[in-house]
Amino acid sequence: MTTTTTVKKKLAPRDNGAPDFKKFLHPIMIKNYGKWKYHEKVKPGIIKRVAENGDVLYVIRAGSPRTMSVDTVRKICDIADKYCQGHLKFTSRCNVEFLVTNEKDIEPLIKDVTTILGFPIGGTGHSVSNILHTQGWLHCNLPGTDAAGAVKALMDDLYEEFTNERFPQRVKISTSCCSINCGGQADIAINLQHHHPPTINHKNMQICELPKVTAICPVAAIRPINVEGKSSLEVVEEKCMYCGACHGQCPSMEIRDPKTDTLSIWVGGKSANTRSGPSFMKLATYGLPNNPPRWPEVGDAVRKILKTYKEGAKEYERIGEWIERIGWKRFFEVTGFKFTKYHIDTYRFARTTFNTSAQVRL
Ligand code: SF4
Ligand code: SF4
Repeated sequence: MTTTTTVKKKLAPRDNGAPDFKKFLHPIMIKNYGKWKYHEKVKPGIIKRVAENGDVLYVIRAGSPRTMSVDTVRKICDIADKYCQGHLKFTSRCNVEFLVTNEKDIEPLIKDVTTILGFPIGGTGHSVSNILHTQGWLHCNLPGTDAAGAVKALMDDLYEEFTNERFPQRVKISTSCCSINCGGQADIAINLQHHHPPTINHKNMQICELPKVTAICPVAAIRPINVEGKSSLEVVEEKCMYCGACHGQCPSMEIRDPKTDTLSIWVGGKSANTRSGPSFMKLATYGLPNNPPRWPEVGDAVRKILKTYKEGAKEYERIGEWIERIGWKRFFEVTGFKFTKYHIDTYRFARTTFNTSAQVRL
């Protein structure tokens, strides 16, 4: 008994898994947890939340550049210390939300956020919320484009749509730097596309990783072979769908190609259950040049979708709901995007291209 107690005392506190979020909430939020009466929009970027007992909390939302230096984060924290009793939160789309109890602090806080940080205020309601990009070159070994750069160029373009609420409903945009798309669903998503199977460098193939690489392919297109007496891998080209998952496991299977990689735009994804259920994105246009540093062709296509959506949607319709109502045929007519056979998947070849791996994921 004594021994167990001694051992327990020596153990460090558990620090794995998600921490209990309630410990980090603003005191007013903890006090009124589950007891909020209503909220109202004061103006774009400012939401007033009122509790049943009359407590008020103002949320001031600012767009962050997502990838930030420690210095910038320190400045954000200083502002939160000055006006928010040290409390702020980041939304899933990397907006910074400052939580203010005293209405008089709102304008000075906004002045500090816009002058010290240079962040815009907005992103609430029927605006284009902060555009997401995947981690890209910061953390990942797969990127075929600079998602952060494409988002920066788009955000410069759509700045006014963040600070105003001029759409029928909220618009979420994301950019992914490979076909795996760890960025998730969005109303408009820009994804990189590869156009050929990986090129295998047999000389550098690391034997210890071969089973892992073989297992990762979702369509079982990778198989072991022997090259000049050495174990290696080959790709069955008819099966390969150019997803690039194998490249993540093995740098000797290079799929990125600056000459052939292009960008595609997908529309109509959403995760929310409001009005209609969650929906997957569908292909709108593809083959756009991967054209840094400003990706003008991508910007043109996104603006075209936003313009036609703004003109044609009924109030509260998300992009996917608008398209479902008018029909995909009409969507291609109003946007002018070319409709091709690649927009249709009839699952006709599903037996040979879909889930044929031993690691079936249904
Ligand atoms: S989208 Fe692909 S390349 Fe970009 S961070 Fe996610 S997994 Fe990596
Ligand atoms: S993991 Fe993807 S890119 Fe690699 S061989 Fe399989 S289908 Fe092709």
